[in-house]
Amino acid sequence: MKIDEAIKTYLAKTNQRIFRPKAVLFDMDGVLYDSMRFHARAWKEVADKYHLKAEESDFYLYEGRTGASTLDILYQKTFGRNATEEEIHRLYEEKSALFRAYNDGEAMPGAAEVLAKVKAAGLQRIVVTGSGQRSLIDKLEHTYPGIFEREKMVTAFDVKYGKPHPEPYLIGLQKAGVEANEAIVVENAPLGVQAGVAAGIFTIGVNTGPLADRVLREAGANLLFPSMGVLAQNIEEIIMAS
Ligand code: CA
Repeated sequence: MKIDEAIKTYLAKTNQRIFRPKAVLFDMDGVLYDSMRFHARAWKEVADKYHLKAEESDFYLYEGRTGASTLDILYQKTFGRNATEEEIHRLYEEKSALFRAYNDGEAMPGAAEVLAKVKAAGLQRIVVTGSGQRSLIDKLEHTYPGIFEREKMVTAFDVKYGKPHPEPYLIGLQKAGVEANEAIVVENAPLGVQAGVAAGIFTIGVNTGPLADRVLREAGANLLFPSMGVLAQNIEEIIMAS
């Protein structure tokens, strides 16, 4: 898909006249960190332990949901009921502990280049994540020095609803002080793409996981790239296209 065509389509669909990006809203897992495989493995192990029906690949479809919402889906599929508060608390703790044990904190290849180009173009960089990891800003500062600010992050502590609800990205717009047509979302997950689109923002899908491209297109991605490295080659053109 050509970039100028994608922007035209976005403007028509959102009933906007201009696209003037001033901020880029980045999802974290699967976009800035190559960490989704550790989330999927941790979830699959917990599901197996509690005899919940799930394939490892399912967790790429659920990505972006809150822990509680993911567990409700697993309990519905297996037992035809939602998870209890106690089950949610216990299983999510176990999943989080496994994720912390597996996670190697590796940056997503190409992400640093995208961030450097966005910063050089004078656009704000905002992280929008469902993660509630402590000292997230320290971790980001370690991986991507000088790119992010503590006040310009949306985490699990800011939001009531998980993706695909637009709330996390709407809060991201507020924190950046920009309108929907002044921002870009970068997302790897179908529910994250849906959230960006529902917030009225130009949403770039980056397919860093095992799902078919079709899944991200059907979620509404305005543009789709196979990696952050390929996005890095195109981000300036997208910013300048306005
Ligand atoms: Ca993600």
